[in-house]
Amino acid sequence: MEDFEKGKLVSSGKAKSLYESPNPDYYIMHYRDDASAFDGVKKESLEGKGATNNKFNAFIMDFLEKEGVPTHFERLLSENESLVKRLEMIPVECVIRNIAAGSICKRLGIEEGLDLNPPTFEFFYKDDELHDPMINEYHIESFDWATENQVDQMKEKTFQVNEILKNLFADAGMILVDYKLEFGSFKGELLLGDEFTPDGCRVWDSQTREKLDKDRFRQDLGDVVESYQIIAKKLGMEQIN
Ligand code: UDP
Repeated sequence: MEDFEKGKLVSSGKAKSLYESPNPDYYIMHYRDDASAFDGVKKESLEGKGATNNKFNAFIMDFLEKEGVPTHFERLLSENESLVKRLEMIPVECVIRNIAAGSICKRLGIEEGLDLNPPTFEFFYKDDELHDPMINEYHIESFDWATENQVDQMKEKTFQVNEILKNLFADAGMILVDYKLEFGSFKGELLLGDEFTPDGCRVWDSQTREKLDKDRFRQDLGDVVESYQIIAKKLGMEQIN
C-alpha cells in the first residue's frame, strides 16, 4: 500500500519489528519469521511464521473489537504487516491461566494440566535482563509503570478477553490454557496492544490435549507453523497459509 510505506525502524523485538508510518498516530507492525524462547537462548527462523501470526492476530483482534475490547489493531497491510495505533506501552505483561502450565508449574511445584478454578492472574515486569520477574500491582504503582486506574482496567480487560476467547477456542474444540496480554495508552485511552498469536498463548486440543502453540518450539515437538495454522483453521480463519 503506497500511502503506508514503512518509515524509520522504531524498535525490533524477538519476532516483530515496529516502523513509523506516514501518519504519526500509527505504526506499521512487521511480523518476522523468527522464533525465540527461553529469553532468546533458543532461536530459529521458521518459514511462514510471520505471515501466519500476522493474519492470526488480525482475526483475534477483530473478534475482540467486535466483542467490545478496544485494541490498537487497525487493519492488515500485507502478508507480514499490520497497521496499528501508536501506543505508549505499559512495561507489564498480564497473564491469565485457566490450566497450569509453564512457569507456574516450576514456581509452585504443581503438575502441568491442573485446572485453575477460578482462573489465576499474574503480572510480570517486561525486562529481558531481569528475565521478566513476577510483580504485583503495588510494584506497578510504586514504580509509576501505570496508574491505579490503568491497573484496574488491565485486570478487567484481561479477564474480559478470557471469557470471550475461552469460549471461541472451546467452540472450535480447543482449550485456551493461558495467555499473555500487553496494554498501552492512546490519547488517554487504554487499548490492548502487542499481539495475540500462538507465540503468546497456550492452546491444547480438547480431545487429545495435544499442544498446538509455541510449546511445540520450546519443547522441540516439531510442526510449529503447521500447528499454528491448524489452530487458525479450527477457529475458521481462511487463507491462513
Ligand atoms: N508469555 C509470553 N511472553 C513472555 C512470557 C510469557 O507471551 O515473555 C506467554 C506464554 O506463551 C504463555 C503465558 O504467557 O502462554 C504464560 O507464560 P509462562 O509464565 O508460563 O512462561 P513460559 O514458561 O512460557 O516462559
